[in-house]
Amino acid sequence: MSLCEACVIEEKIHVCCARYPLSGKRVPLGLACGRTVLACRELDARGLCRSYDTRPEGCRSFYCDRYASTERRLGPAREPEKRHS
Ligand code: SF4
Ligand code: SF4
Repeated sequence: MSLCEACVIEEKIHVCCARYPLSGKRVPLGLACGRTVLACRELDARGLCRSYDTRPEGCRSFYCDRYASTERRLGPAREPEKRHS
């Protein structure tokens, strides 16, 4: 499982999938715990991107600090698989 696949939805909501990049808009998202949060329209309740294969370029090129530091620690031969959401 990649770092992004293991990332909890609360972190995704705060770091990389808080809003749809092309419009900047947030929509209500109901979580399994019963809470409703605001997030990107493409994020589902499991923390996965509904349009992963066609996600905007900004999503493809974004690396959070934790992802970047893991990549640096592992080095180029052990780059973690990049997979948002
Ligand atoms: S880039 Fe990956 S590890 Fe970083 S917050 Fe987003 S899903 Fe989590
Ligand atoms: S990866 Fe998907 S869910 Fe996350 S911000 Fe981009 S379009 Fe939205």
